[in-house]
Amino acid sequence: MIGAHHWTLSAQMQMNSSQMKNIITKSRDNGPKKQPDTKELCRRCGKESETIQHITAACEQLAPTEYVKRHDGLAKIIHQKLAEAAKLIDDNSPYYKYTPANVLKNENFKLC
Ligand SMILES: [Zn+2]
Repeated sequence: MIGAHHWTLSAQMQMNSSQMKNIITKSRDNGPKKQPDTKELCRRCGKESETIQHITAACEQLAPTEYVKRHDGLAKIIHQKLAEAAKLIDDNSPYYKYTPANVLKNENFKLC
């Protein structure tokens, strides 16, 4: 079973920018910055307009948790793909089960 943040990560990776515009938020990025209407404020931080840009990259409440999880999840995928390409691993486990080793090396490559 895939955890909620894995689903979110997967969904974000598969969406293009036009699909992202169709996600329902309280506010839309429509032109120059203005003072956010209090009805449009982010449900997490309550400080900025709840836009896709704010939710995916600028919310101070999400930064220490969700953005770090997203970053680490992507870093693990890149690590696994690099390790596979360099023949440092032959484990074909799904990305969400992969745990990177601190250092992997063979006669040609070292990944740390
Ligand atoms: Zn926020």
